[in-house]
Amino acid sequence: MTRYAMVIDVARCLGCGACVAACIAENLNSSSSVLEFQPKPAPSILRGLLGVRTNKPPAEYFVEEADKETRDLVDKNPEEAKRKAQEIVGRLWLRTEVYEIVGGKYPNVDILFYHRICQHCDKAPCVTVCPTGASFQREDGIVLVDPNKCILCGSCIAACPYAARQVNLLLKTIDKCTFCAHRVDRGLLPACVETCPAHVRIFGDLDDPNSEVYRIVREHHAVPGTPHGPMRHTAARVYYLPSSNYKPSVEAIEKQKEEEANRMEEIQEKGWNAVKKTEKATH
Ligand code: SF4
Ligand code: SF4
Ligand code: SF4
Repeated sequence: MTRYAMVIDVARCLGCGACVAACIAENLNSSSSVLEFQPKPAPSILRGLLGVRTNKPPAEYFVEEADKETRDLVDKNPEEAKRKAQEIVGRLWLRTEVYEIVGGKYPNVDILFYHRICQHCDKAPCVTVCPTGASFQREDGIVLVDPNKCILCGSCIAACPYAARQVNLLLKTIDKCTFCAHRVDRGLLPACVETCPAHVRIFGDLDDPNSEVYRIVREHHAVPGTPHGPMRHTAARVYYLPSSNYKPSVEAIEKQKEEEANRMEEIQEKGWNAVKKTEKATH
């Protein structure tokens, strides 16, 4: 039976962010469910360039865009300004991120690029705790959210040890990585995998002996969850390759995750304030 998984060869990662930009470009117009997905693919070179061109973390980029695009419009056409701000700010969720975790002291400094992404756990606690069945797992192991059933209770955010879930402000639902299920169903790779210039993210069927993922996980003893192994026993299906590279402590990874979560919260608040400004103008 097909069981999708991803390997992250973290020692090869350049931290360029092209995978994050590719995810945004691919999923910008989607809801969190493939059931409603309207694919609007962009050429992969453009996805990479989005990250390079803005030279900014994507979330900050969207807040600035919301402000810029609505600044002049707010007096002329407040309804349109509101619609635009909501649309842009509604994108302030990131299904995947790459954090730089730095250790050591100059001149002996080490870096690990830690990848936050849904692990599509075989024993997914987010699915178990969901009171409405909004979080569910397909037969091929991909974990999805049905926005029509999500009541935003937040139980799944608390249950996920990998900080994989965020609130999608615009659609008022939980959002997370879908392994680009809409692409996989058409025989394509997830957008981040296709875009990575360094072949860091490798995707395939863990049960297919012909797949690269099958071979790497077995031959290289890849570990699920984090470079240290799983955070909890959720049977994570995103694997890290062991490498001679720096492995920050679990505490350092947790600290970084918390800092990033706080940063996202701040950005979302800023974004929401941009929407409120336009809402005031329409009253
Ligand atoms: S995984 Fe690939 S695309 Fe993503 S940051 Fe690393 S090198 Fe860049
Ligand atoms: S990583 Fe989190 S959101 Fe993804 S399946 Fe596992 S528990 Fe659920
Ligand atoms: S926030 Fe939505 S997806 Fe998460 S547990 Fe609650 S209803 Fe389920």
